[in-house]
Amino acid sequence: MEAIKACELCEAARFTEWYYEDDECWVAECEACCVPMIVWKTHDPHPDESTKAKLHSRLLSVATSVFDYEPYIDDNMRNIPDHYHAHARGRGLGFAQTPRRREC
Ligand SMILES: [Zn+2]
Ligand SMILES: [Zn+2]
Repeated sequence: MEAIKACELCEAARFTEWYYEDDECWVAECEACCVPMIVWKTHDPHPDESTKAKLHSRLLSVATSVFDYEPYIDDNMRNIPDHYHAHARGRGLGFAQTPRRREC
């Protein structure tokens, strides 16, 4: 019998700093890439278009309120393909380069 593989995103373990959370999603620093990442709270790889648009605009607004950079959405789900999440990577930054934080 194969062991049931727990979904890392459903577990939502707080390994890193969380920037935002509501009933639908959460935004935290991605453990692997060190950039802001949004995770839909539903275990499904395909949100409908309006949900997706909402998640993307939430991610961009949270990302730019914490960091001073020009983010773009990368929702190519390489590591966890069965649970929707997206990264806000920085234009002009390296793949896993943390953007500069805004001074507070
Ligand atoms: Zn999941
Ligand atoms: Zn990542």
